Amino acid sequence: MNIQKFVRDYCPDRLHEYLIGVYNSKQYAKRHSGQYESKRRYFEKWDRVRDVNLIQAEQQRRLTEFMNYVATHSEFYSRYVEFKTNWDVASLRALPIVTKNDLVTSADQIATVPPEEAIASYTGGTTGASLKVLYTVADSQERFAVLDNFRSQYGYCLGKRTAWFSGKELLSRRDVRRKKFYKDDRANGIRFFSTFHFNQETAAAYWEALTRFKPEFFVGFPFSVYEICRFAESKGWSENLADTVFFPTAETVTQEHRRCIGKVLGCRIVDQYASSEGAPFILQCESGRLHIHPLTGIFEVVDADLNPVQSGQILVTAFATKGTPLVRYKIGDAIALSQDGQCECGSVFPLVDHIEGRVGDYLLSKENGRISGANLGNSTKSVNGILCFQGVQETADRVKINVVADHSFTEPHKQRFEAALRERLGKSMEIEIRVVDQIAKGKSGKFKFIINHLISGQSPSSAEGVRKEAG
Ligand SMILES: [Zn+2]
Repeated sequence: MNIQKFVRDYCPDRLHEYLIGVYNSKQYAKRHSGQYESKRRYFEKWDRVRDVNLIQAEQQRRLTEFMNYVATHSEFYSRYVEFKTNWDVASLRALPIVTKNDLVTSADQIATVPPEEAIASYTGGTTGASLKVLYTVADSQERFAVLDNFRSQYGYCLGKRTAWFSGKELLSRRDVRRKKFYKDDRANGIRFFSTFHFNQETAAAYWEALTRFKPEFFVGFPFSVYEICRFAESKGWSENLADTVFFPTAETVTQEHRRCIGKVLGCRIVDQYASSEGAPFILQCESGRLHIHPLTGIFEVVDADLNPVQSGQILVTAFATKGTPLVRYKIGDAIALSQDGQCECGSVFPLVDHIEGRVGDYLLSKENGRISGANLGNSTKSVNGILCFQGVQETADRVKINVVADHSFTEPHKQRFEAALRERLGKSMEIEIRVVDQIAKGKSGKFKFIINHLISGQSPSSAEGVRKEAG
């Protein structure tokens, strides 16, 4: 048994919480030493630059520095990346792409540092194989400088009262018995909620713990906050958190999330795109638009034949990934670039219309093609009683819909829901609506709204809806 598990299961609650605080303070100090301060000032300065040519020249300078580091330090890349005095996007496009599979099978040859000198980050790929990337200490400090600089524009810093929802397994069985679904880090003002234990029986305890805490900020999985709000909405409860800002991570924020969280808590949602593999950043500005941060890396938007397009999947080259360098990495997310000119906020960083999230997150209809999560989510409009649901595509012509619902999900509402699903999935699709007690999260604690078995390897059945055993 590792130390963390031992502390979680056997330490008194107060001591466990104290240790979480000590651990966080230590992590914080590590992330904020070394290059952190100078990087913070660097990103602050470039946020104010309005000259596109200057920004492009700086991006090219950083790209050249990064690519030459890669060419000379990574065994994998040194096979085809050469040292050049000037790298640009055109010369980048001539290189092969890197897949998740490469990252798994050639991890050691890609990495430029030994694991003991690096900070490891794990991410569950769509294949279910756990992906491990290494950050150098400087990579990590740079990434925190970008994030802190971004969040500070909304008043956030460590020490502010923050409700945190991430995939950490925090709770002991005793906590669960006592219906305490969070841990407090009092030293840093953070309440860490478990994202694994929410269901209809625990929902009220979550709601109470959240509203009593009155956070100034939320950080974490949007679905976890949404499911609490959805429950509160079904009870007609609300709380005025209009001054609170929510920074979602890891999952795509849907229109339905925004509607429900907005209605129940009134807080402001400020979105960002980042990834545990270390992709460059896309950050929401004060005017509510999404901007690519061009000094954190290069986004190429491409079609299936890798030709540049306005909307499609992305290949990322990320400057703060010197530990496990990402060069034209096919990360599995898609974005739509914006045609609009300059943003109202004044920034000249490129605009993105929307982030489509994981490319695999769609159902496939013979009649209607791809049904995205956002589209599927709209099926609950004017349907009562659905607390959350999940679409699981089992074969080309069969989709199972797992639904967690309350008593107001009556037969007429079920029919209305089915009609809305039918409209999207097409006449020939066999649709089974299955009411379940809860829908388990994936291993990372994230909710999987869509599971598509047609897409190779995507079969984490543990993340599907479960019915409790009778008796
Ligand atoms: Zn803007």
